[in-house]
Amino acid sequence: MKHALDFYLKQRRKIVALNYVGFVISWDMETDAAEQSITADSEQVAVVSEMSYRLLTDPEFENAVSVLYENRSSLDEVLKHEIEDAYKRVRDTKKIPQDEYTAYSELTSKAYPVYVKAKTENNFELFRPYLEKIVEFCRKQTKWLETDELKGYDVLLDQYEPHYTQAKYDAFFNALRKRLVPFVKEVTAKPAAVPDWAKQNFPADKQREFCEYLRDVMLFDKTRGIMKQSEHPFTSGFGTDDVRITNHYYENKFDSSIFSCIHETGHALYEQQCDKSLNGTLSGGGASLGLHESQSRFYENIVGRCRAFWSVHFTKLKSIFEEQLKDVTLDEFLAYINTAERSFIRTEADELTYPLHVMLRYEIEQKIIKGELEVKDLPAYWNDKFKEYFGITPLNDAVGVLQDVHWAYGNFGYFPTYALGSAIASQLYHYMNKDFDVEQSLKEGTTAKINEWLKERVHKYGSSKYPDEILRLATGEDFNPDYYIDYLINKYAKV
Ligand code: ZN
Repeated sequence: MKHALDFYLKQRRKIVALNYVGFVISWDMETDAAEQSITADSEQVAVVSEMSYRLLTDPEFENAVSVLYENRSSLDEVLKHEIEDAYKRVRDTKKIPQDEYTAYSELTSKAYPVYVKAKTENNFELFRPYLEKIVEFCRKQTKWLETDELKGYDVLLDQYEPHYTQAKYDAFFNALRKRLVPFVKEVTAKPAAVPDWAKQNFPADKQREFCEYLRDVMLFDKTRGIMKQSEHPFTSGFGTDDVRITNHYYENKFDSSIFSCIHETGHALYEQQCDKSLNGTLSGGGASLGLHESQSRFYENIVGRCRAFWSVHFTKLKSIFEEQLKDVTLDEFLAYINTAERSFIRTEADELTYPLHVMLRYEIEQKIIKGELEVKDLPAYWNDKFKEYFGITPLNDAVGVLQDVHWAYGNFGYFPTYALGSAIASQLYHYMNKDFDVEQSLKEGTTAKINEWLKERVHKYGSSKYPDEILRLATGEDFNPDYYIDYLINKYAKV
């Protein structure tokens, strides 16, 4: 046991160090690296991830994990969880035949550029053979990795959000389908027009200036994190003291950078506010994709689109865009940032219609993995379902079935976490309001009180507990989608 623990801790140092190398290279590739350098950089990433893979599958490491797993009751809570996780990871890695694994890695790396071309040229047929092979692998994967508890699509869902199975997601999406679909149809019956003032030019450097202000409002610690620019905004972190976010500035769509900044800073706060003792372990960072997204969406939508927040910060925004916003009132601005409309693209969807985009993908993935839907029939199926939920038919596959990259990477089971995150945010909001008046607290000028509450109830645990466990600790109950649907219906009935 003592020997196993020593070996585990020694090997963990190496794994963490390699994770750091991977983190820095990917960050550089997404931000500063020259276009032509990407191919060479990808090779280094591949070598580093192969080294990590070897450390994880090293027989001595596997043996140490097994011994610790057998004796886990004698470990402290954090290490016990980490060992359970490592045990599962080692077990699953071994279940996938090595030749299949290698062939699949090659397949997905080849599929990506083909996917990009297919989307650009609006040609699903180009991507179809690749997607068919990816689906074939994912279906096999559900067989290789199945356990007594997890079968079929549940196997894939569990990889992204532990313990959230189809039974849980079905209850969630059924509630959305029943209560939200008719409501959305009603609210979005009249097409919304973008006001003229919002179509003006908003210089990128001024947008950046306002985003810097927002990061201060949210108390992002700039001595432990940076913000740069990239094509798609994202957050990436290594421990509590190196948290990096990016943003993108569209001069003809100024609100995009504002909400991306609030969203990514929400992710960043989760990373910065984990307990420092988790640094250097495999228990730092967010507990899951869904829980991470609940934090970013909490700040972006619940905080960032509410009246109390803008009643304090709108003056600052106006002072930076003096010319563009001189005749715009707070009411007009709030109406604009809270408009709900029928649109094709998930990533650009508003707060109200967003979960329906995710629901569509969830249903399709379920059918595909079960073998009830084949890849060749995907575009037509997508369009029919889209019409059913949104009342409009995508103009083409580029804005329909081809819009998201996830399937090209083989990420079946990922999508539902996006909607789950928003729903968890509403549940947390409900309970936070029992402790203090959340909107009122924003009038103090910063998000200090909110940050503190989330730190104590969610952030500090890092990934040392399962996401459903953290939610139960924070709110005293299991995931309950009603808070989310009530929140949306309440809010948009008023708007
Ligand atoms: Zn996010």
